[in-house]
Amino acid sequence: MRKVIILLGPPGSGKGTQAVKLTKELGVPHISTGDLFRDNLSRQTALGEKIKGYMDKGLLVPDALVLDMLFDRVAKPDCDKGYLLDGFPRTLPQAEALEKHLGDSADLRVLNLLVEDDVIFKRMAGRLTCRHCGNVQNKFLAPPAKEGVCDRCESELYQRPDDKAEVVQERLRIYHDQTKPLIQFYQQRDVLVVLDGDRDPIHVFQDLVKAIG
Ligand SMILES: [Zn+2]
Repeated sequence: MRKVIILLGPPGSGKGTQAVKLTKELGVPHISTGDLFRDNLSRQTALGEKIKGYMDKGLLVPDALVLDMLFDRVAKPDCDKGYLLDGFPRTLPQAEALEKHLGDSADLRVLNLLVEDDVIFKRMAGRLTCRHCGNVQNKFLAPPAKEGVCDRCESELYQRPDDKAEVVQERLRIYHDQTKPLIQFYQQRDVLVVLDGDRDPIHVFQDLVKAIG
């Protein structure tokens, strides 16, 4: 039976890296809705043209179109063994549509990488980047020997706009708002596996592989 994997986890949880390793290990494609958008746009497919119409008007691309694009992709032969979904589903209607699409033909596993907000906050909002050599330090986890100065080349460290405390907090808030209903939905269907994501990435990976079975 084809394995369909959904990986959930907050920004900064290491989810992206784990997804890449998992798809390699399992030999299944990594399907990201963001990549599908870009691919359809650049190849100027019929779907791409429709998507472009919405984007040009500054409108949100409707679910129906996202679903068409996704189901079109997973019908390709490289998805026969299964696939890992990235960035999908984001909403309950999308999760329901996926469920309907899969029917009894797939073994769905939803893996939730749990990392506490304060851990994520320290990882992301603590990040300091060197203007000169690109070295990344962390004011909480790997503080520079001299405040504001790169350990490696002694140039100035700065906080990238994406790493600002308010930005990180807002991203976490959006993540929880979006994910809570999905977690409930998959819990009720008994396909949710919760894993402690705040550990050595090698151990997290081993548990992910085990959970997929
Ligand atoms: Zn430096």
